[in-house]
Amino acid sequence: MATTWVDFKQLKADVAIEQVLARYGVHLRRIGATELRGRCPLPTHTSSRSRDSFAVNISRNVWSCRSRSCMQARGGRPGGNILDLVALMAGCSIRDAALRLQAWSRAAPERFIVPPSSRPDPVPSENPPLRFALRYVDATHPYLVSRGVTSDTVRTFGLGRYTGKGLLRGRIVIPIHNAAGELIAYAGRAIDGEEPKYRFPAGFRKSLVLFNLHRAVATNASTVIIVEGFFDTFAVHQAGYPTVVALMGSTLSRHQADLLKQHFERILVMLDDDTAGQQGATAVAEALTPAMTVAMLSTGGGHQPDELEPQDIRHLVNRWNRLEDPA
Ligand SMILES: [Zn+2]
Repeated sequence: MATTWVDFKQLKADVAIEQVLARYGVHLRRIGATELRGRCPLPTHTSSRSRDSFAVNISRNVWSCRSRSCMQARGGRPGGNILDLVALMAGCSIRDAALRLQAWSRAAPERFIVPPSSRPDPVPSENPPLRFALRYVDATHPYLVSRGVTSDTVRTFGLGRYTGKGLLRGRIVIPIHNAAGELIAYAGRAIDGEEPKYRFPAGFRKSLVLFNLHRAVATNASTVIIVEGFFDTFAVHQAGYPTVVALMGSTLSRHQADLLKQHFERILVMLDDDTAGQQGATAVAEALTPAMTVAMLSTGGGHQPDELEPQDIRHLVNRWNRLEDPA
């Protein structure tokens, strides 16, 4: 009996995921150099809340959907390759999916076979996940207490003074994660007046990240508060609003704007009350309207949020009374 021969590995390397999606009439939005985003097309997707849960990495030729119910219906797996994609879309086995892909690519090789050289390279400084976590972090250092950071916050954010060797020695280290919650960097805050005030790893790109995004997303709230710095984030978190992210500066990058639009519907802008902060806030409003509802919260008096008392922060936020689920 003749069996049809199919090379799974070759197919996965040769056929571009974009072509497979196009075959099913799925068109996604481009985000950055290598990522596409949009509504999940899989039959396992039942949630109407996650509007933007389907992500494709075109340089790695893989996809994922992090909607909980969709993942559950797929045995808990966040995503897969093009064979998994076709198997799910067509409701067939991986082998049948491979045969389909092979047939498509043989019928129209000019559309389905994309030479790897013509695919975009992954951005080299994409803030890849760290392969280590720092040890020798002293969570009890008095500097944190002196800045009003509670021990709960220290634990939640994994803060402490680094007593090991290297560039961050003697600094307060602040772990930074990507949207998926993977650790990608440590910022190091000087505590003895040493310059620079903050140290980031070489090649780290702040503009691709929002500090605390993964925790903010996990609250499932549709309203987010945005601040400039790490300590502003801690202050807002301690005032009872865990859905808070920081720019790590006063300017919003296009990538950061996309992240906000993907995950939230409303945003309360609480940048510093200085020239940079006011300009930043105006730019945030311009970048996010009309995709999101934007409200400006002025800290007033030249202050930044981490200089306010928790009740002042609550007073500011409550005036808008728009947070759906403060903790
Ligand atoms: Zn899905």
